[in-house]
Amino acid sequence: MSEKRDYYEVLSVERTASAEEVRKAYKREALKHHPDRNPGDSSAEAKFRSCNEAYQVLSDDEKRKIYDQFGHAGLEGGGGFDGVGDVFAHMQDLFSEMFSGGGFGGGGQRRQARGGDLRMQARLSLREAAFGIKREVTVHAPVRCDDCSGSGAKAGTKPEACAHCRGSGHVSNARGFVMFTTPCPKCQGQGVVIKHPCKTCEGHGAVEKARKVVVAFPPGIDAGQRLRVPGQGMPGPGGAPAGDLYVELDVEDDPRFERDGADLVTRFHVSFADATIGAEVRVPALGDADTAEALPTVSLKIPAGTQSGSVFTIKNQGIPRLDGRGRGSLIGVVQVDVPTELSERAKQLVQELDEELKRGSSAGEDAARVAAAK
Ligand SMILES: [Zn+2]
Ligand SMILES: [Zn+2]
Repeated sequence: MSEKRDYYEVLSVERTASAEEVRKAYKREALKHHPDRNPGDSSAEAKFRSCNEAYQVLSDDEKRKIYDQFGHAGLEGGGGFDGVGDVFAHMQDLFSEMFSGGGFGGGGQRRQARGGDLRMQARLSLREAAFGIKREVTVHAPVRCDDCSGSGAKAGTKPEACAHCRGSGHVSNARGFVMFTTPCPKCQGQGVVIKHPCKTCEGHGAVEKARKVVVAFPPGIDAGQRLRVPGQGMPGPGGAPAGDLYVELDVEDDPRFERDGADLVTRFHVSFADATIGAEVRVPALGDADTAEALPTVSLKIPAGTQSGSVFTIKNQGIPRLDGRGRGSLIGVVQVDVPTELSERAKQLVQELDEELKRGSSAGEDAARVAAAK
């Protein structure tokens, strides 16, 4: 392969260059010829590939020895390299170096996308869930350590690129023709090691703290639903953005109501007389967002002859819908109270009423049944 350029020439290093010099040269040349930085330049891509190939040989003591002795020919045939896999591995190396602050001043954002998410529970009353509320919740979670600005390294020092993986966070091993890439065991895939950990956070870059977060629960939210509060999760390592906070909602039981989506079911009592003659009664209700009463009610007209178990639907008195499209209904279920403790006079009156109803036409059967139900 006579057209192949000399590997030392490709990387512009002396034949006596140390491993570190080869590495630096590779980084410099590969970045220079990286296709992303040379759009539309097809020769850059070829040069970039040559850099990778050269580096793959010169960074390997054994291959370098063979190359020094026999040139390109020594590496062809048995014991050569499996091009594609390695080029790929080195490209990964390169990318992590590009984004880990090795020359570009980046903050390691590529490798560590963002901090983890946090989950917590919150409990609201039915009214709070119905009309929405801003509630301060306490989050016990790590926050970025101020003493080291989250780097984990003692003031005046910096995390250093891991020597084992050359800052890439992973190591590659060849098995036959297949390359296996695993997280670096020395730095747990972080690509950096902290030689002098910050005392405050013991090198974690974060300390446990309770902090207050104001969560705005929207009107109509229901038990089991989850709110996402962006940016209130765990701090991102190395200055990356924080994760999110998820607040899972629980709603206290309200003895007056059962919730059914946007509808509210309530059971209300009417007297035997009101049910029989018809009346305007008060039904337990939710009121609205600025109702001051502890136990609001709404007015409802029930007709004569209302039976226990009758259902009345009062529109627009249920729970506000999450999507803002009005409110559900209040569904009142009637319970007719049959008097239990009667005075002598009351007993006499009921008896008279009973006789009167029985004298009535056969059309009065329903009423008679009500009266007889005592
Ligand atoms: Zn490492
Ligand atoms: Zn610290």
